[in-house]
Amino acid sequence: MNKKDQPLIFELSKEGRTGYSLPEMDVPQVELADLIPSDYIRTESPELPEVAELDIMRHYTALSKRNHGVDSGFYPLGSCTMKYNPKVNENVARLNGFAHINPLQEAESVQGALELMYDLQEHLKEITGMDEVTLQPAAGAHGEWTGLMMIRAYHEANGDTHRTKVIVPDSAHGTNPASATVAGFETVTVKSNENGLVDLDDLKRVVGDDTAALMLTNPNTLGLFEENILEMAAIIHDAGGKLYYDGANLNAVLSKVRPGDMGFDVVHLNLHKTFTGPHGGGGPGSGPVGVKEDLIKYLPKPVLVKNGGTFEFDYNRPDSIGRVKPYYGNFGINVRAYTYIRTMGPDGLRAVTENAVLNANYMMRRLAPHFDLPFDRHCKHEFVISGKRQKKLGVRTLDIAKRLLDFGYHPPTIYFPLNVEECMMIEPTETESKETLDSFIDAMIQIAKEAEETPEIVQEAPHTTIVKRMDETLAARKPVLRYTKES
Ligand SMILES: *Cc1c(COP(=O)(O)O)cnc(C)c1O
Repeated sequence: MNKKDQPLIFELSKEGRTGYSLPEMDVPQVELADLIPSDYIRTESPELPEVAELDIMRHYTALSKRNHGVDSGFYPLGSCTMKYNPKVNENVARLNGFAHINPLQEAESVQGALELMYDLQEHLKEITGMDEVTLQPAAGAHGEWTGLMMIRAYHEANGDTHRTKVIVPDSAHGTNPASATVAGFETVTVKSNENGLVDLDDLKRVVGDDTAALMLTNPNTLGLFEENILEMAAIIHDAGGKLYYDGANLNAVLSKVRPGDMGFDVVHLNLHKTFTGPHGGGGPGSGPVGVKEDLIKYLPKPVLVKNGGTFEFDYNRPDSIGRVKPYYGNFGINVRAYTYIRTMGPDGLRAVTENAVLNANYMMRRLAPHFDLPFDRHCKHEFVISGKRQKKLGVRTLDIAKRLLDFGYHPPTIYFPLNVEECMMIEPTETESKETLDSFIDAMIQIAKEAEETPEIVQEAPHTTIVKRMDETLAARKPVLRYTKES
């Protein structure tokens, strides 16, 4: 059957059909009204589909096939690190001792879980070159906000309440200015130069005694390593500011160079990117934050400490910015990240970076003759190309992205970073084979050829997907989330 014609579960409904069989109830029934205020009790049954177990199985299986994930195909979505998440992580996360514990249990009864968290913190300290780590934040952006709140507390404790500005490069990930704003700062943009790196003269111009921090991703979102980082760190530190490292995509530098050694005071990591937690609708995130010595006392509480041979939560932290998440973070993601780090080891993590960087450079060089390459230099884990040449032929970058769907690929990140016109940001990751990279490159080259010879094929794409082009603004503003017979 054609996927498009798969009947929706409501359409398969037959009155009285069920997908379960249970014996007659032989225990006294509780009156619903004793449990729920009467206003909330529905008087009519919900209109649920009445179907057999097999129908519901097919329904969900069909829905799952409509989605594209790393387990179904190549997913070079720049800055998102859509790499393979090893299944051994899942096996470990499902062990009873990890999966069936409750955050309200006494610390004595979950020593193994606490040891794992503690060890993970130790590994992340080593990997980042920081002095202490918290696992509380639930994602990257949450980590950014947590780190900035600590920087804020630090300046306030020094009486530096006039430090209200956070400097962010124009190539920054959108969460950086957003987190700075939510943390109560004003953002100031620093320009990139013609090499795609932070312009040092512009940095000197915007820095001042009102600077709270500089937020930076290194390599930046163009995939380029900020080679003047030590000079930049000195400029910010001399002005009394702190350096914040957005470490969402640490696979670019693992076991090669550490944020702590580059002069950064705070760093967040995305365990759900670099450290193989599933993401993109696949599960909760985890955005641990590492800090240098002078920020430790502001860490969110409770802080996990090791006392002799036992692990405890220390709540006695008078300078802490407080809790940033109920309980202790997304523990299941910690288990996956820990498993990943332990199975890879330091040499494995170094190989991750070497292969991520090799794959990106290989792709960039093979695509360069067919698209515009705004920054013609070695990249790290990702790179940007521009669809400017194709735009002149009437084919926009959005069209190229849609056409890739016909080849079974998730498109790269497009129109980001904002400082590159018709931008396509490609992150192949280290887990893809050369054959996969070559097939994707071939598809891109074919699309570039189509743009010249038969542009309408690209302009009208996608041709093979269940839904065609959607009005993305309308979908975001007025999402239709319920089944209606008409739709
Ligand atoms: C993904 C990403 C973030 C945000 O992480 P979330 O977990 O989605 O909040 C921040 N910065 C960079 C560079 C990223 O790639």
